[in-house]
Amino acid sequence: MDNYNAIVSECLIKDESKSGKLDNLKFAIKDNISTKGVKTTGSSKILENYVPVFNATVIDDIVNAGGEIIAKAALDELGMGGYGTTAATGPVLNPLDTTRVAGGSSAGSAALVASGYVHASLGTDTGDSMRIPASYTGIVGFKPTYGRISRFGVIPYAASLDHVGIFAKDVKTTATILEVIAGYDENDQTSSYKAVEDYASLDASLAGVKVGIIDNVIEHISNEDILTAFNNLMSKLVENDVQVENIQLNQDLFKALPTVYKVLTNAEAFSNHSNLNGVPFGNRQPGDNLNEIMLETRTKGLGYQVRARHLVGAYALMEENYEGIYQKSKKVRRLIVEDLNDQLAKVDFLIAPSASRIAPKQDEDFYASSTYADNYMVMDNFSGHPGIVLPLGKSDGMPFGLYVSSKAFNEKQLLTLSNLIQEIVGEI
Ligand code: GLN
Repeated sequence: MDNYNAIVSECLIKDESKSGKLDNLKFAIKDNISTKGVKTTGSSKILENYVPVFNATVIDDIVNAGGEIIAKAALDELGMGGYGTTAATGPVLNPLDTTRVAGGSSAGSAALVASGYVHASLGTDTGDSMRIPASYTGIVGFKPTYGRISRFGVIPYAASLDHVGIFAKDVKTTATILEVIAGYDENDQTSSYKAVEDYASLDASLAGVKVGIIDNVIEHISNEDILTAFNNLMSKLVENDVQVENIQLNQDLFKALPTVYKVLTNAEAFSNHSNLNGVPFGNRQPGDNLNEIMLETRTKGLGYQVRARHLVGAYALMEENYEGIYQKSKKVRRLIVEDLNDQLAKVDFLIAPSASRIAPKQDEDFYASSTYADNYMVMDNFSGHPGIVLPLGKSDGMPFGLYVSSKAFNEKQLLTLSNLIQEIVGEI
């Protein structure tokens, strides 16, 4: 398998007449982001021959700033997965140890940066799909505030939680790309009018900032290498005049994160994916009538994980379950966000290890060994807060990461602190 099975198709999207902040940067793009004239499959069989007639806004932004796109990267089918194992083109391998997963769903985008095939890539993050792959492959994975980067032309998983994000090896490159692709887009009604800042100058003031260690996450981590590296970093932050304290999220709400996530994402997916029926576009199966065509198309064109999740979503949306499951989950989401906002009124940043473990083996039961510390970053998709994962250290020769998040639209300060952390940690 070439290139860790991370590439769905090679391409060359570049405009020789353009030059700017992204000159000389080669990109890979997650294959759920539309590229005009270049197949965009969502790593799903149903879209294996789908060629968009338009670019996602972020693609135009990259090209107009001198960037060059050379690959479309594999993902867990339609973004539904955490390990990079469900793409129609087969499992993505971790470039640092091919017996291990790269993390998902933005598996290919992360693997291609980690292996050095490209300088940077775009992914999407609905739960933690930028940040887990960054953690497992030892790179920077950044998800901005909801509305900061246009999602026009992105195949949705769950629209109220979907974000476009950036992978690179360092914070500076990440911030440079953010400057280019952030901003209002008239084609995306959820994009923000807020001015784009000079993120890449990385010179926001950190005077007096407070960082809150999320104790709820630490409680679920037993890997000594992770705990030691994390504690060492906290001491170094204190030496650098950053105030560090411990915070506790509401334990019931913290433990509700995976369940609420499951209900809301899958309910939204069931609705968002209703056009994947072979009628307007995509692979169509034959049938005697419309219903038969759609049933056959979806049965043959969508993989097991997608069909299973659609079932969960449909169940939550059934008339008899709507109040008790779907609406109730929305209410709990609101409580989770209020709890986070309460914490972020006391501290400027939240911080914790990004996961309890290094990348699992391809053949291990990774769902069984997953803990609350492996699923909590979804809280930023509920709240829309920006979040980043940075390389923190190594255990058994494999990388593990650090999570930092902040208030909405506080990207500049978050990236400035992240850059300081990257300087402190150094090469892992
Ligand atoms: N692990 C999450 C899931 O399986 C993340 C998905 C995402 O962010 N796209 O749903």
